[in-house]
Amino acid sequence: MPHYLVSWTNPHDRLLEITLRFTAPADTPRLLLPAWRPGRYLIQNYAANVRECTAGEHRIRKEAKSSWRVDARAGEAVTVTYRYYAGVLDAGSSFLDDDEVYINGSNLFMLVDGLRSEEHRLTIAAPAEWRIESQLQYAVILSREDGEGPPAGSASSVLSPGVLRSAQDDTNYVARDYDYLIDSPIIAAATMTRHTFDEAGARFHMIYRDDRGFDTEQYIEPTRAIIRTQAQLFGGLPFSEYRFLYHVREKWHGVEHEDSCSIILKRSALGTADDRTLSISAHELFHAWNVKRMLPAKFHPYDYWNETPTRLLWAMEGLTSYYGDLSLVRGGVWDEVRYLEHLRKEIETLEGLPARLHLPLSQASFDGWLSDPAQMHDHANAWYSFYTKGEIVSMLLDLTIRRATNGAKSLDDVLLLLWDKKILEEDAVERVVEQVADVGDFFARYVDGVEPLPYAELFAAAGVAFASAPRPGSSLGAKVKMVDGLLTIESVLRGGAGMDAGLLPNDEMLSLDGTRINSEGALETALAGVVRASGAPPPGDAPEARTTPVELLISRAGVLKTLALEARPDPRPQITLRITGPSELRKQWLSN
Ligand SMILES: [Zn+2]
Repeated sequence: MPHYLVSWTNPHDRLLEITLRFTAPADTPRLLLPAWRPGRYLIQNYAANVRECTAGEHRIRKEAKSSWRVDARAGEAVTVTYRYYAGVLDAGSSFLDDDEVYINGSNLFMLVDGLRSEEHRLTIAAPAEWRIESQLQYAVILSREDGEGPPAGSASSVLSPGVLRSAQDDTNYVARDYDYLIDSPIIAAATMTRHTFDEAGARFHMIYRDDRGFDTEQYIEPTRAIIRTQAQLFGGLPFSEYRFLYHVREKWHGVEHEDSCSIILKRSALGTADDRTLSISAHELFHAWNVKRMLPAKFHPYDYWNETPTRLLWAMEGLTSYYGDLSLVRGGVWDEVRYLEHLRKEIETLEGLPARLHLPLSQASFDGWLSDPAQMHDHANAWYSFYTKGEIVSMLLDLTIRRATNGAKSLDDVLLLLWDKKILEEDAVERVVEQVADVGDFFARYVDGVEPLPYAELFAAAGVAFASAPRPGSSLGAKVKMVDGLLTIESVLRGGAGMDAGLLPNDEMLSLDGTRINSEGALETALAGVVRASGAPPPGDAPEARTTPVELLISRAGVLKTLALEARPDPRPQITLRITGPSELRKQWLSN
């Protein structure tokens, strides 16, 4: 079986050394490193971070951007070594530091072509006093142990998961196949906080890195409530042991795996009203069903080397976001007011994006592979997140089914029928919804089409009043940021004053109506002055409704330019949701 040894000599150069031993399954065996990882639907070309690749006495040469050929004959023992730059810490990367190694195998482990379905062995050369956390099972090595692991093909047996052994023994793991190996994030570190508990028939571990000064125990009880609620929905958990692996850093990010998840927490928001720890944890846990065990046929098996477009990403991510947060309110962690405030923010985000008018949800799913802002030049107007619209459309579909069946059926029934299928053809969601309720042309309008979403009528059925109104005052209709101390345009929104005036991303803002603007605050003050001078901008874009333009001085690529800026309302609407009274439908929707 292929055996990987991960070691390093100098954590400050961030270079992990991978030693891969295997018996060549064919002449000139081929090695392949993934170009993307499940959970992030963009080509990331991990091979760009590989260097110093050698194969001992054998020649090794690159064949394509993510593949190598070893000049060995079938049956020969081969040892390949290479280094990988592990200097980025997010929920899907690999990272090396003085007191930690964090591994996502999709970045790191080359596949020996032809051996994908075989057991794979992994040894981590961590200091003896470090602890290692992973969904991988420990391997007991029966053959000679020389400190670098056994020769390829040696026998092994597996301990039951969750059995803690001494640190030295904890460095050897076995995965049932290559896919499970690279689906297993690993943290090896000198210090970690670990909370372990049993819930809904399985053992759970919440593991934190860099949580110094922060009380992580507060998340245990709400997490248990989330687990109970999701397990109840499906009639049980699909695993016997599960790990939440957290790094406390300064952003939010999560990636799902079969028996664990890796989550990055935003330190400055922990314990505040913006704390998203539970919401992300609920999302990633729900993925243990949706995506990890129930997935588009196009992902079965994953092609880690090529884009794999599917119209189902909105259901993979949006349905997961919907049920993730729904499990917070159904589990009693949030009350309905807090949940409606969450929905209000999501709706306000979507309704403020021009792409909602031209980009169907199924196409946003399909084109996720093209959505890298480095390639999609008008990202702010061309794109919205299929997570956000997917969550909103899932919610509206749920309300549609409940209303159409007088509460007899819901999206829960759809979910369970999908769960029975496990492998989903491209039209699976629509076909299964047809079995549950008559939702008319919902999919043609809101999934494959771009019709305005039917918020008001569906929220009204749940005793909630929906309103969308223009924002008061005026707005530049552009995103600004400070770059090297200069107030710079990041993006310009369609329908806003900035685009009308001719602003472009990267323009440097100098003055507005004769007033120097060198910060976001100064810009806001100057805009308010324009409104005071010329009257509040009326909503709508009829020519007669416009106000007197003022001079906006910018620098574009070092050349000064004067633009005429008219005060205009913000093109993004303000959304309100208000409970109007008791509703049987809402009670069924938001309670367990
Ligand atoms: Zn997700």
